[in-house]
Amino acid sequence: MKVVQLGVEFAPIAKVGGLGEVIQGLSRELTRQKVQVDVILPKYDFLDVRKLSKLKVEVPEFTCLGHTNAMWSATCEGCSLHLLESSSNYFRRGKIYGCEDDTTRFLYFSRACLEYLKLKNEPINILHLHDWHVAVCALLAKEIFSLPIKAILLTIHNGEHQGKSAPWDLDAIGLKGADFLHPDRLQDDDRAHPKTLNLLKGGIVYADWVNTVSPTYAKELLTTSIGGPLSKTFRKYKDKLSGLLNGIDQTIWDPSNDPNLPRPYAASSPLPEILSAKEAARAALRKRFSLSLTHRPWVGSITRLVPQKGPELIEQGLRQTLTLGGSFLLLGSSPLPKIQKHFDKLKEEFAGNPQTLLHFEYDEGLAHLLFAALDFLLVPSHFEPCGLTQLLAMRYGTLPIVRATGGLKDTVFDEGAPHPQNGFVFRDLDPTALTATLQRAVSLFQNDPEKCNKLLIRDMKQDHSWTHLSKNYLDLFRNL
Ligand code: ADP
Repeated sequence: MKVVQLGVEFAPIAKVGGLGEVIQGLSRELTRQKVQVDVILPKYDFLDVRKLSKLKVEVPEFTCLGHTNAMWSATCEGCSLHLLESSSNYFRRGKIYGCEDDTTRFLYFSRACLEYLKLKNEPINILHLHDWHVAVCALLAKEIFSLPIKAILLTIHNGEHQGKSAPWDLDAIGLKGADFLHPDRLQDDDRAHPKTLNLLKGGIVYADWVNTVSPTYAKELLTTSIGGPLSKTFRKYKDKLSGLLNGIDQTIWDPSNDPNLPRPYAASSPLPEILSAKEAARAALRKRFSLSLTHRPWVGSITRLVPQKGPELIEQGLRQTLTLGGSFLLLGSSPLPKIQKHFDKLKEEFAGNPQTLLHFEYDEGLAHLLFAALDFLLVPSHFEPCGLTQLLAMRYGTLPIVRATGGLKDTVFDEGAPHPQNGFVFRDLDPTALTATLQRAVSLFQNDPEKCNKLLIRDMKQDHSWTHLSKNYLDLFRNL
């Protein structure tokens, strides 16, 4: 079986969040299972070529919409990559997202990928598209290109990002944009914007199957409260919509073999060894930041600070944890200046408090160390398609405290759930629900360490690996 993955992130060389991690983890596991997987990605200027092996030019020159391109091939993290280099400056911005012409850049990438596939003309079983950035490929493949593709699958990693665009954006890639301004095609479902096209909607309409990253999120997208105006389209196509949980790459996220940790530990290690390795991680953090952070438990968040992630609840978690006698550690940063400014102020407010660490940058190694050092990870999202941090936390013996939404609801279970308890869950988006749950967790930590440690071991033993979860994708591929 041959699968081509199209997306704009790939961990660790081009990762902003879960999208890159999922494309990499799933591709590596499928490759391991003898599926022929090819991942196509822009050849961004910031790619660290030292992390690529066998880098070479695969197709020296082909044109797309007046620009000259080359396709490079390489291997990375056990995956076969194809990197699109373009004479346009679309991928020479030092970053993946946040440029004014993101829509133009990704539409161009989509069209160039299909030009390349046309050039190769090799039979493909599944063209797997990830998120709005490449969703237009479903449309291009059906309207313009005649390619030997058996089925097109669109996976939605975050339905909030939809790629709203204008008809002339499609004109620029050789489609007649005005023709698609129709409710059955790409016209945005928000009645306030009748002249707007919605690229994600195009993917939903034209793909053979649409998948999202957890069963609960697949149901939530059908509701206006989470799916928004696009819920109308999700409801229309609900018979080709599924929700398959994400896995994690347990080779990269492995406390028994993690170069970022001072001391390795595994689920099978004796409990005192696990606890002292986690203590060693805390000691390393204290030393690195010259902080005392003596109060336990350590509660923290590792996250993009955007409205989806409940920044106001993270702040409340910080204040509440300190009141309850613990320490709070936040690793995150915000692409939104207003939110970042607010957290900068918060950092100033707590500058003299030795029980807090507020660190605002993207630091992969530090994230690993934090997952090991924390006692609890707080994920109070307003919505969460799947969420990876709760899974990573459990792998490192850190108990998640989450809001019951999307993939958080499908993977974290509190007392009384039909599954054995592995964390703490609150339902309502109000401060009292969070406070009560945090209190419960801290109280368990302080008053019943035996039970707390039992949960820690249980969490470490869970299997959220792609080895286990890629089977669902394979079944879907075969059905398609
Ligand atoms: P999303 O994709 O919505 O950001 P996920 O929970 O699916 O959320 O994935 C987030 C990924 O990004 C996790 O691997 C997490 O560890 C990582 N991450 C988030 N913020 C940071 C940061 N500031 N530094 C390092 N890693 C981070």
